[in-house]
Amino acid sequence: MSELAESKPAAGSKIAAPPRGLPGWLEIPLGGILVEPGNAVEYRTGSWRTRRPIHDPGKCTSCMICWLYCPDDAIVVREQKVVGVDKDHCKGCGICARECPVKGAMTMAEGGAY
Ligand code: SF4
Ligand code: SF4
Repeated sequence: MSELAESKPAAGSKIAAPPRGLPGWLEIPLGGILVEPGNAVEYRTGSWRTRRPIHDPGKCTSCMICWLYCPDDAIVVREQKVVGVDKDHCKGCGICARECPVKGAMTMAEGGAY
């Protein structure tokens, strides 16, 4: 195991713990090797996030623009309405907030944790 793979966040670090007891980025194989195919849903990329989208259902018109643009399929839709963000897979890129045509319906906040 390399020196990098053995390193751990310092005590008191604000690096978020991996969700649901899964290995963090320091424990996964170097190079991001896919050891099993068809497992994209298991990669909970939400732990990479440093900014987080905030959805305001009171302002949202469910125009679906954010759903169309999200590169991670992380916009949650139920009964043809946008109801929020999949926090396990949203990487916090901010595209949804950038493309949203309704002021305040989707905004970005600092910090990855909800
Ligand atoms: S782009 Fe904005 S208004 Fe349209 S569904 Fe997404 S959050 Fe709602
Ligand atoms: S911040 Fe990026 S990954 Fe997260 S919901 Fe918006 S477009 Fe998708």
